[in-house]
Amino acid sequence: MDLICPLCNGLIEYHVVCEECGSDMTDAGALVNYLDNYSPYLSNDITQQVDGASYDKCVHLFQCDVCNKDKRVTIKRVRR
Ligand SMILES: [Zn+2]
Ligand SMILES: [Zn+2]
Repeated sequence: MDLICPLCNGLIEYHVVCEECGSDMTDAGALVNYLDNYSPYLSNDITQQVDGASYDKCVHLFQCDVCNKDKRVTIKRVRR
């Protein structure tokens, strides 16, 4: 199965509105990338199962520039 995250690959733009202040939140990247920094010894298979991410989902971290609130958004992977 060849599934890719449309957000990681720049296929779509995803807009998230901050629950606190209503500003546009910025995509800070896939959560898996952050996890890799903290746990380089883990294989990709394992980290992708963390925090709701799975083979068909990619979890992104969105951050509000105004109030610094962050939010995790689950993105469904699509076929290439
Ligand atoms: Zn992604
Ligand atoms: Zn905000």
